[in-house]
Amino acid sequence: MSYDADVLITGAGPGGCSAGIRLAEAGHDVLMLERDPLDAGPDITSGEVLALQTQIECEQLGVDLNADWAYERFRFVRNVYPDLSWTLHAIPEGMGHLAIDRGGFNAALRRRAVQAGARIVCEVTARDMELRADGAVVRTREGGEYRGRVLIDASGRHSVALNTLGLKEPEPEFQQIAVARFFESFEGTPPQAWDRHLYGDAGAMISGSQIRPGLFRYILEADLGVKQQGRMNPGEYYDYVARTYDPWIAERLEREPHVGGTWAMAPLAYRVAETVRDRLLLIGDAAGYLSPITGQGIEFAMRMGRLAAKTVGAALRAGDLTAGSFAEYVEARNAEVMTLAELVRMQLRLFRDRAALLRCAGDDEFRARVLLPLPVVERGSLLGRASVP
Ligand SMILES: Cc1cc2nc3c(=O)[nH]c(=O)nc-3n(C[C@H](O)[C@H](O)[C@H](O)COP(=O)(O)OP(=O)(O)OC[C@H]3O[C@@H](n4cnc5c(N)ncnc54)[C@H](O)[C@@H]3O)c2cc1C
Repeated sequence: MSYDADVLITGAGPGGCSAGIRLAEAGHDVLMLERDPLDAGPDITSGEVLALQTQIECEQLGVDLNADWAYERFRFVRNVYPDLSWTLHAIPEGMGHLAIDRGGFNAALRRRAVQAGARIVCEVTARDMELRADGAVVRTREGGEYRGRVLIDASGRHSVALNTLGLKEPEPEFQQIAVARFFESFEGTPPQAWDRHLYGDAGAMISGSQIRPGLFRYILEADLGVKQQGRMNPGEYYDYVARTYDPWIAERLEREPHVGGTWAMAPLAYRVAETVRDRLLLIGDAAGYLSPITGQGIEFAMRMGRLAAKTVGAALRAGDLTAGSFAEYVEARNAEVMTLAELVRMQLRLFRDRAALLRCAGDDEFRARVLLPLPVVERGSLLGRASVP
């Protein structure tokens, strides 16, 4: 087979760029295929944030966070409990999540990949892929065909390899939907805080923050089953959860000025049967997804990109691109990323446990152990006044 590149990467998002930048910098010939333009313009569709480790991964890649696509940094977390009492927690300096324009962030990653020496073919959509004994072939909707010694599939939740090989499986424990709404103002959102309203029922949480001046996002994550039973559309489900558990949110839904429409995605979680085959590695959302509840999806994708780059670099040098030579990636992903995903799983379970959440409201020691080990700087109730402890 003749090759267009040593490493083909489908998808120039956080996972693909994390792998592509590292492999190109290590001197490998990298070709990335991306559906979007290099700079597709602003995108705040789901109002994403970069967790601390994501910011560290960015720094390691040479992506500057002092950019116009980086907005508010959280300095506090407010937990609102099922009885509508709340605790406000200070995040140590420099450790807060950073709200971003996802379009600007992706563009910065892609520019960095090009600077590192990777080639990116934009505005091509991978249609299917084929694994051969001597390489991987990706065919695009536009009629192109690209060949690499190895393929890293980083093309997200509807990845080309997942579709072609039928590797996607349901995640039975957490069948959830996310529904996001945006507002010009949202009276009472604590400044620079991630405001998490935990209801302990239907796996439901509504959480939000100011993304930048004049733009607030509040997003619902909740079990799909309840929505389907009630035959509700996403907006109706959002209203139902707010009305049932949270008059504070419900009141604001009525009166605060909405920006744009309601955005929804379901099911959020899914599993992937295999993450490596001969000449193929799956990373990021293409390797499975659990929940946006901790704002770590980009972090997990970038971690996997880093781990895949190390393994693929070694495999290329050794001239062995069989699944067996990717064992290091599988093990490192299990040790590093799947362990963290297990912590997210524990949080999701806690968010279904009303009694435990009610205990978190008043028992500082218990809360620090099971939910959040940060100091309380203020406490109060959405039904009454705040107090400083
Ligand atoms: C509601 C919601 C809120 C979230 N909030 C956060 C958050 O606050 N913080 C966080 O860290 N994570 C969050 N996530 C998760 C995060 O969005 C993903 O985990 C992360 O983007 C995964 O990165 P990736 O590189 O694997 O895939 P993606 O970001 O999906 O990137 C895939 C890339 O591949 C391209 N592509 C797709 N298909 C093709 C194709 N066929 N051919 C060519 N190119 C293709 C796409 O254009 C894209 O550039 C959220 C997820 C949801 C659903």
